Amino acid sequence: MAHSRYDAVVAGGGHNGLVAAAYLARAGRRVLVLERLDHIGGLAVSTRAFPGVEARLSRYSYLVSLLPGKIRADLGVRVELRRRRFSSYTPAGDTGLLVDGEDAERTAASFAAVTGGTGDHEAWRRFYAMTAHVARRVAPTLLDPLPDRAALRALVGETAWRDLFERPIGEVVAERFADDTVRGVVLTDALIGTFADPAADLLANRCFLYHVIGDGTGDWNVPVGGMGALTDALADAALSAGAEIRCGAEVLAIDPGGEVTFRDSGGEHTVTGGHVLAALPPAVLARLLGETPERPEGSQLKVNMVVARLPRLRAPSVRPEEAFSGTFHVNEGAEALAAARAQAAAGRIPELPPAEMYCHSLTDPSILGAGLRESGAHTMTLFGLHMPARLFAAPGAREEALRRTLASVDTVLAEPIEDCLLRAPSGEPCVEARTPLDLEDEAGLPGGHIFHRDLSWPYAESSGDGPWGVETAHPRILLCGAGARRGGGVSGIPGHNAAMAVLLS
Ligand SMILES: Cc1cc2nc3c(=O)[nH]c(=O)nc-3n(C[C@H](O)[C@H](O)[C@H](O)COP(=O)(O)OP(=O)(O)OC[C@H]3O[C@@H](n4cnc5c(N)ncnc54)[C@H](O)[C@@H]3O)c2cc1C
Repeated sequence: MAHSRYDAVVAGGGHNGLVAAAYLARAGRRVLVLERLDHIGGLAVSTRAFPGVEARLSRYSYLVSLLPGKIRADLGVRVELRRRRFSSYTPAGDTGLLVDGEDAERTAASFAAVTGGTGDHEAWRRFYAMTAHVARRVAPTLLDPLPDRAALRALVGETAWRDLFERPIGEVVAERFADDTVRGVVLTDALIGTFADPAADLLANRCFLYHVIGDGTGDWNVPVGGMGALTDALADAALSAGAEIRCGAEVLAIDPGGEVTFRDSGGEHTVTGGHVLAALPPAVLARLLGETPERPEGSQLKVNMVVARLPRLRAPSVRPEEAFSGTFHVNEGAEALAAARAQAAAGRIPELPPAEMYCHSLTDPSILGAGLRESGAHTMTLFGLHMPARLFAAPGAREEALRRTLASVDTVLAEPIEDCLLRAPSGEPCVEARTPLDLEDEAGLPGGHIFHRDLSWPYAESSGDGPWGVETAHPRILLCGAGARRGGGVSGIPGHNAAMAVLLS
């Protein structure tokens, strides 16, 4: 291939790379996207995970909150993000806590049944009114140049700033809520993919913040058609604006001057970009630049399942269709979370792994083939907490973690989850587990960190951050994946901001 020049070369065809490519191409820039795998999407993909089973599972990420409506509108992305009526259900003994977004009385009755006279329902309403206020204030800043700390603090206001940005979230939750179940439900948002102690470590606050500010509401919605539908729509936006996307093209080296060496089936090639946008993890970018990479550590067990029927619950007052359509919390009380964290910190797989489950096909049946739909089958996604990468070096650790996680699920159901699993035509049950190390092998995620690196505050912390939070030590090289400041999750924000850094420079 002749040596080609582009205005921008985007290394990595995940959703952020596609967003950046679409913005740049729409502005008339000549853009090339290079993706190592034979498909685009990175961690935002849908897959038929079980041969012969017509279920398109969002294999890694599954819910969308952080993607701003402005990016969807700018790029003409028409994927529907469908709201879930029930935000969560948490089994507690023979009853459970149901948070029903459309029936305040039922939610109040559920709080009363689980927490008695603790006043936690009122505390819950006050707390989430505060996070909603922060969401409305912070979300619009995420697509602008980085504010400094003082400016964001002034926007957020003193009480919310203290409770969400300065005091450990575990301390705030313990002060505001009395009931262990309620405390745990709140704390899970501080621990997704993040091995942190919420009582001491402000990393948990950052994780919490990104879970409650998405697009100004903090709602977590189901992308209709699955994550793959969102990625396809972003790729269409980039392609129709004139971007070139090459899959099966692994970037081997990036030069600070803008030269990018990659390999595809035809051999090795070099192209030059006026800018190079690294839509891949910072540790991978460091390696490609010949620098010393950091070593992040992810912490989760992702389990994808297809069930022949929804499992029966212990509580008669809630239907499985209600309980599983939102976030179904499993052994995620505050004390259970702390015990699991202590065990994992000591190098042991938690005895009673905390986890949450979601049935997306209840909200979006289109991801199932007609036969499965009619039979009552459903997808079931599980995200396990406090499963840091360090636990999985030993042989058999994945199988042990899965066994304990399913046993943990069984403690809150009226029947074993294994009895509900659909069997593929091969006779195998439809269940697959992914540890952080699996994600490293399969998706190229250093340490299996789902946000590419630990989440950062959405404000400039030093002069090195640059105006958009995407700048690197090399003026032509910009970070445009989840590891940028204000990155993490399926948001497109780093992609947008890297494109703006190019267009407005
Ligand atoms: C199990 C799991 C569950 C999650 N759940 C959610 C969720 O429900 N909601 C949410 O918002 N977020 C979730 N996340 C996080 C979210 O998916 C990611 O933070 C986000 O998708 C990252 O997008 P990205 O485009 O920045 O990077 P990626 O999606 O990681 O894309 C990077 C791309 O770069 C490519 N690449 C790597 N090296 C090279 C190379 N040398 N040359 C060329 N290409 C290369 C990769 O193949 C990949 O396609 C989850 C993540 C995981 C793993």
